[in-house]
Amino acid sequence: MDAMLVPAASFGTSQKDLKMAEYDYDLFVIGAGSGGVRAARMAASHGAKVAVAEEYRVGGTCVIRGCVPKKLFVYASHFPEYVEDAGGYGWSIEPGSFDWATLIANKDKEIDRLNSIYIRNLEASGVKIIQSRATLQDAHTVNLAPDGSSVTAKHVLIATGATPFVPEFPGSDLAITSNEAFHLEALPEKIMVVGGGYIAVEFAGIFNGLGVETTLLYRGPQILRGFDDDLRDALALEMRSKGINVKTESDIAELEKTASGLSATLKSGETLETGLVMYATGRVPHTAGLGLEEAGVELAGKGEVKVDAYSQTTVPNIYAVGDVTDRMNLTPVAIREGAAFAETVYNDTPTAVDHSNIATAVFSQPEIGTVGLTEAEAREQFAELDIYKSSFRPMKFILPGREEKMMMKLIVDAASDKVVGCHILGPDAGEMAQLLGIAVKMGATKADFDATVAVHPTAAEELVTMREKWTAPAG
Ligand code: NDP
Repeated sequence: MDAMLVPAASFGTSQKDLKMAEYDYDLFVIGAGSGGVRAARMAASHGAKVAVAEEYRVGGTCVIRGCVPKKLFVYASHFPEYVEDAGGYGWSIEPGSFDWATLIANKDKEIDRLNSIYIRNLEASGVKIIQSRATLQDAHTVNLAPDGSSVTAKHVLIATGATPFVPEFPGSDLAITSNEAFHLEALPEKIMVVGGGYIAVEFAGIFNGLGVETTLLYRGPQILRGFDDDLRDALALEMRSKGINVKTESDIAELEKTASGLSATLKSGETLETGLVMYATGRVPHTAGLGLEEAGVELAGKGEVKVDAYSQTTVPNIYAVGDVTDRMNLTPVAIREGAAFAETVYNDTPTAVDHSNIATAVFSQPEIGTVGLTEAEAREQFAELDIYKSSFRPMKFILPGREEKMMMKLIVDAASDKVVGCHILGPDAGEMAQLLGIAVKMGATKADFDATVAVHPTAAEELVTMREKWTAPAG
């Protein structure tokens, strides 16, 4: 994802236009998450006087209750398989015991460390941190809770992220979300995770790995809608073989408390008993009660802030970046958008973020790494495709006798030979996707992949050694 330089546009923001005396700050950022922090620091580095308000903890969702602690949980949940596989390599290791409280304490310590680094970096950049909820009174005035004081700013950046969405139904208040999952006092014996997106599949893998009897309940025919169909099918298969009860075409109608936990009545009428229900049914932009509409900022259907390519809202001095704009809800994207905003407004370099070909990973078990178009998307855009697919047992699973398969798939536009999509399911898929992202972003062709000598023995070498085009079975 490049930050694209575009012809100069008028943003009415050049340094000489800043009439500092009129405002307390050049920039007031609401929300100290990934996008807000990057924007604040970069704006300050260009000489702007900046304040950032945060109502929870500096670092935002990714650091405090998202990507970072989630990845630590994923690591923790892999150990039972490592122990199982050790036997194949001659090690006799007894399964041992797992202590959730230790994991939580160590995770919290790490989050505290990262939180302090974020605070230190902001302060070192000269950004004032205001620990408070902030709402807009008008386009240039921000109210701070709880004392109700207000400050003024030439520009305001909305970077408030998103919050978990739980649909309303009888008993929905009994369900937890990922926010609470990071602070559970104890693991339940059984859990039901509802949803089929990133968070649902990642947490189903975490709980299952940590020994919780796990059901993943998804309303549609297959999990991870929007990902390549072959990977979706292969992931669901592997999740089931790891012991997760992946129940598709299923949805909860009602939740009730029981003596031992919760009872979920599905829309089909089936009843399932469980210890805990976690909803991972998407996230909604965090815009409610911020005073945005009162200040004239237009919101779209899900409550997301409407922005143009430069993250400018319908009110010229108010910008928005990250999940609150519901463009591509990923941390590195928010960071890019924050940086592009600072370039645009404080460095006289109008910069729009290119949201195409962004590599991403789902830390499911097995992991997914992907960049570019799915086969279905590519079929809509190109007349003819060459598809390369490979499914194999990674070398490290052979001695332990683990049956888990890895899958790789390349999607090539036959006319130009360009690789327009790469999809991987298996160990370290996310790491591979990061590097494939460079090749795809540069417009690499299948011939470029073929000209690359393999790194042997690795699983990734399959990406440059696939030669046979896949053809659909006859009939
Ligand atoms: P997603 O949008 O990825 O998935 C939401 C899931 O919930 C979908 O399966 C959706 O079904 C289902 N759903 C939505 N509404 C309902 C409903 N009313 N009843 C039942 N099911 C419903 O959201 P997540 O919460 O998983 O994640 C939020 C965002 O966070 C992601 O979009 C992603 O961008 C980001 N994220 C990224 C991660 C990473 O990079 N590894 C990790 C975690 C999150 P359907 O498909 O049928 O619409």
